[in-house]
Amino acid sequence: MYYVPDGTQMCGYYECSNCKNRFLSVKVAPQLVCPYCGEEPDMEIGPDEEMPAVIEEARLLQVVSGEDEVKKMDMLLSLAITGGSYDWL
Ligand SMILES: [Zn+2]
Repeated sequence: MYYVPDGTQMCGYYECSNCKNRFLSVKVAPQLVCPYCGEEPDMEIGPDEEMPAVIEEARLLQVVSGEDEVKKMDMLLSLAITGGSYDWL
């Protein structure tokens, strides 16, 4: 599994409106911070540093439920981002 741990029963399928990446997350919410172009809030940040803006660019497209469905989506998306072809399947 590339995006979510083995045995995940439910996950969210997201698309970022900014960088157009699609990904899965075990967090299911209407919107998420994009893991590619967004920044998670950093609680370790010093007081002199500028706080990064947290923009939830990624929108939930679909909730994927069932271990087999999650596994399938994870595999398809992993192939898409690594540029793999389906020929070897
Ligand atoms: Zn993005």
